[in-house]
Amino acid sequence: MAYSCVCHFFCVTLRRKVYRHMRKWVIFIGFFLAMSLQAAVYTPASVPDPKRQGQAFYVANPDALLPDSSVAWLNDCAARLESATRVQLCVVALESIGESEAFDFAYELFQRWGLGREGQNTGVLILFVLDSHDIRIMTGVGIEGVLTDAQCSKIIRDDMTPAFRAGQYGDGLCLGALRIYEICTDGEAPEELLSIRSVTNRGEYGEDELTDAEIMGIIGVFTGLFILITFILYWASVKRCPKCGKRRAHATREQVLIAATYASAGQGLRTYCCRNCGNTFNVAFVIPRRQRTVYISGGGRSGMGGFGGGGSWGGGSTFGGGAGGKW
Ligand SMILES: [Zn+2]
Repeated sequence: MAYSCVCHFFCVTLRRKVYRHMRKWVIFIGFFLAMSLQAAVYTPASVPDPKRQGQAFYVANPDALLPDSSVAWLNDCAARLESATRVQLCVVALESIGESEAFDFAYELFQRWGLGREGQNTGVLILFVLDSHDIRIMTGVGIEGVLTDAQCSKIIRDDMTPAFRAGQYGDGLCLGALRIYEICTDGEAPEELLSIRSVTNRGEYGEDELTDAEIMGIIGVFTGLFILITFILYWASVKRCPKCGKRRAHATREQVLIAATYASAGQGLRTYCCRNCGNTFNVAFVIPRRQRTVYISGGGRSGMGGFGGGGSWGGGSTFGGGAGGKW
């Protein structure tokens, strides 16, 4: 190719370089677009917690399956329900949970977020999964007397499924939430739900609350124990000097003469130096036989609310009550 001038030469080579780079970038961006367009498969850990947006949010709709109007309505409904009955209703609508079972997924999400107030356990989770056609209502232990498994099953069958079949996911979830609201605010139900708190407060949970004096007392006892143990350890480490008779000899060096094995004990030599007269002397000691370590597993569950970092749901839990179905 002939270049008319130096300018033209630069112009052409520059353009070629830009094109080559552009092709690379187009492939790169296209790859990421294709990745993001694929249906997001959620795990209980990856579902965005609506409480991160604030206390007035109860709906996780990360794939925008529900119209904004439905989300706003559900948030409003859940807020009213909570202020009237302390029941925490959470709605989660997801494109896909992969191969996970809806029950397991709902259960783990419920515990992870800690739906319902701690001690009352009046949380309700509605999980909607588009690709597997799963719908599940999971209830906390405290609410099971008011919102029974049979009622949950009926809500799914009669109120939600028809709307889902018509492709109206937002409406279906709103209808389900409305029925739950109606059941929880009907007749004696609110009183029953609100009384759960007072029962647990006077009962087993009430003992958890300590007065300031008790807390100070506990701190005092632990501080005393700590000082005592430190003193005993110090006392035990200081030896009486055989020369001057004062208990001022500190260990300055430790040698292993015969290492301990799993079969037999070993022997060591400790060198002491007296801080009173400067005398040094050795004391032989026994190194205990080595023990095979036995690991005791367990350690209990971590606090329900503590998982997500936010913990702004109440810290409640579920025994897996409720109902589920396919639509
Ligand atoms: Zn001495």
